[in-house]
Parts: sequence; structure tokens; C-alpha cells
Amino acid sequence: MTEQGVGRVLVIGAGLGGLTLAHALVRAGLDVRVYEADDGSGDRFQGYRIGLAEPGLAALRASLPPRLYELVEATSGDLTGPGLLFDEQLTVLSRHLDGPSEGSRAMDRQVLRRILLGDLGDRVAYGKRLKGVAEGLGGTVTARFADGTEATGAVLVGADGSNSVVRRHLVPEIELVDSDLCGAMGLTTITDRFLRLVPGRGTMVKGPGITLMLGRMQFDREPSAAAAELAPGLDMPYRDGYVRWVLLVPPEHPAATNPGSAGEDARELVLELIEGWHPDLRDLVASAYMSAVGRAKVYDRPMPPWPVGRVTLLGDSAHLTLASGGNGASTAMQDAVRLSARLAEVHRGERDLTSALEEYQNDLLDRGNAAVRFGKEALKRFVPQETR
Ligand SMILES: Cc1cc2nc3c(=O)[nH]c(=O)nc-3n(C[C@H](O)[C@H](O)[C@H](O)COP(=O)(O)OP(=O)(O)OC[C@H]3O[C@@H](n4cnc5c(N)ncnc54)[C@H](O)[C@@H]3O)c2cc1C
Repeated sequence: MTEQGVGRVLVIGAGLGGLTLAHALVRAGLDVRVYEADDGSGDRFQGYRIGLAEPGLAALRASLPPRLYELVEATSGDLTGPGLLFDEQLTVLSRHLDGPSEGSRAMDRQVLRRILLGDLGDRVAYGKRLKGVAEGLGGTVTARFADGTEATGAVLVGADGSNSVVRRHLVPEIELVDSDLCGAMGLTTITDRFLRLVPGRGTMVKGPGITLMLGRMQFDREPSAAAAELAPGLDMPYRDGYVRWVLLVPPEHPAATNPGSAGEDARELVLELIEGWHPDLRDLVASAYMSAVGRAKVYDRPMPPWPVGRVTLLGDSAHLTLASGGNGASTAMQDAVRLSARLAEVHRGERDLTSALEEYQNDLLDRGNAAVRFGKEALKRFVPQETR
């Protein structure tokens, strides 16, 4: 059967889920185009560390060309070793802190996204901010962009993240609301002194009413050098390893109700909140080369089913997990593999599009809503009074 089997798949959003889907569809022989609102791959800072669980890694293995997956492995970092719990003077309270699940790897988002853009070439179009979606009568769907252009295909996938335009088209009743979780986050270049603070899978520092979390991003191989060898031509800037620190801002603090008031630089806010803490911790924060304050958003209710047509969702647009779950990217990548498998069945003439998208949607909602619940439960581990 030819590509007429499905027709062109339009993916809205070149984030972690949308790009994984694009690779999986290319691998299955389908025609795909990705439309991204940003003006380019380096348009926005996306460089913090994520922990990628084994199901996410398996999804990448199943989707990416082998040399790009090799680059994922080469630029990932170790997430084994003891998880430490300290008090604010660095007295060890526990060496058995729970961490990411077995087999997880640390990845830098910016590096991962650059790898995912590899080989897709002009299948990815930038500066295409989706404004609206129209499902045509003749078995087509049209995406309308803010720059006045349009694209028409057979299926449209909203991989456009938490503030998804596609979700508003399909499920307008769902609202994006503030959660109680406000975090001040920064990145500090790794030195031997700071590495001692995070010898293993992660470190939690519990001070009076405040929790500081540290994560280590040490690339197995420096990304630009690894890319030059494994995927010549891939656009990959030089990156040093870093410690990612996150402080949960107490809900009563003014910065928690108006994160914008703390400005882009979270260092001053955190230094104010950790006054009197061990000098290594204060210096770690003071030496950050990048920091920001943000309040996490959530959907106001679990995602309900929507009428199955030619438009569907994937990743954060369907299930917005809190960062505490550490499972959002991994879940989005699993969505991508499953959706690609269903569309490939249609492409091969084994089933019709409606039943394929219906099966995908049921699975998406089951797994996605479970991932959201897991993130909410996981947050309880970071609530200060539980361990002090
Ligand atoms: C602080 C933090 C820490 C996290 N840590 C982890 C972790 O450790 N492990 C983990 O698995 N997950 C983690 N996550 C979650 C993870 O980052 C997300 O779940 C994941 O990025 C979702 O992928 P996505 O493709 O759905 O959306 P995104 O990666 O957000 O991509 C959406 C894309 O759509 C584009 N877009 C948006 N609107 C439009 C539009 N109108 N038109 C066109 N394009 C548009 C955006 O520019 C973006 O490129 C974390 C999240 C946060 C905030």
C-alpha cells in the first residue's frame, strides 16, 4: 500500500513528544510535517535536566534512527548512587532517599531536543503558531497559523504542550489553572565542591519549612564532541555539566502568588530564603549561571474523552503532570510510539482511522490521567513537615 493509506499527518509542536512522534511516523513510512511556534530550535531556553524513565528511553529506541539513539545514550548521565537527605547544615539524615525508577537516565532537555530534531530536516517548520483547526468534510483537517498560512492533512495531532490550542478546540471545558507548586530553579556549573553535594541519584535538603532539591547533570560524553562523532552535521553547542537546584517556594511567600515579581533571577529569592544555611549550599545558589521562578499549572479536572474525528492529542496537551512525578516526558514519548503504531496499522490497510484513533485515545486517557495522579502523590514527598 502507498502513503495514500493514511495521508499526511500534521503534528503541532516540536517538543519532546511531537518530535518523537515524527521520528516514529517516518520510521513507519508515513508522511509527516511538524509545525512549531518558536522561530528556531535555539529560540527559547529549555536547558534543564530531566530524568527519563526506561519506558521513555524504550520509546526513543523504537522511534529514532539508531545513530541518534546512540547519541541519546552517549549524552545522558548516571542516575545511580545513594539519594541523600541533608539538613540545612549538611548533616546527613538519610542515605536512602527514593529517586527515579531503575534504569532512568539524566538528560538535558536542550541537548535531547537538538538530537530529536536531527534527520527531520524540512519536515519541521518554525514560526508556525497554531491559531485554529478546521475539520473538513472531505476527510481532511486544516491547521491555521498566526502568520496567515494554512496546512492541510489527513490527521492532526496536538503536541502543543500545556497551553494547547488543539486541546481548546477538542475539549474547551478544560481549564489550565495555577497549582500550589511554585519553584525557584537554577543551574550551576559542576565543580568538585558542588559534586560532593550530589554524589548519587539526587539530594534533598530539608530546612525549616523549606525544601531544596539538587540533581546532577554530568554528561557521559560532552554533547558537541559526541555529536561530531556519532551524528556529524547535527547542530549541537558545547555544554558543561551542571547541578540543577530547585527550591519549593512556601505558598504564603509573595513570590509564590506572583512569580513574575521575583523576576527571572531566582538566586536572590533563594539566598534570602536559605539565610544561615551551609556555605556550600549558599555558594551553589549564588554561582548559578541561569535561574528562574515559576508556578506550575495543572488542568482543573482529569481529561475527559472527546468525539473521535481526525484530531487527537499527545503529551502535556492531554495530561499535564506536575514536575514532582518526573514522568511527563516519558509518558509523552510512550504516547508517540502508541499513536504511530495505530496510524501504521491504518496505513497498511489493517483497520480504519476511527477505530485506530479511538483505541489510541482510550489508552492515552488511562495512562495519562494515571501519570497525573502519580505526580500529585509524589509531591507529598516534598512537603516539608513530613520529614522534620
Ligand atoms: C520543571 C520541570 C521538570 C520536569 N522534569 C521532568 C522529568 O524529570 N522527567 C519527565 O519525564 N518529565 C519532566 N517534566 C515534564 C516534561 O518536560 C513534559 O511532560 C514534556 O516536555 C511534554 O512534552 P510535550 O511534547 O507534550 O510538550 P513540550 O515539550 O512542552 O512541547 C510543546 C511544543 O509545542 C510548541 N507549541 C506550543 N503552542 C504552540 C502553538 N500554538 N503552535 C505551534 N507550536 C506550539 C512549544 O513551543 C513546544 O515546542 C518536567 C517539567 C517541568 C516543567
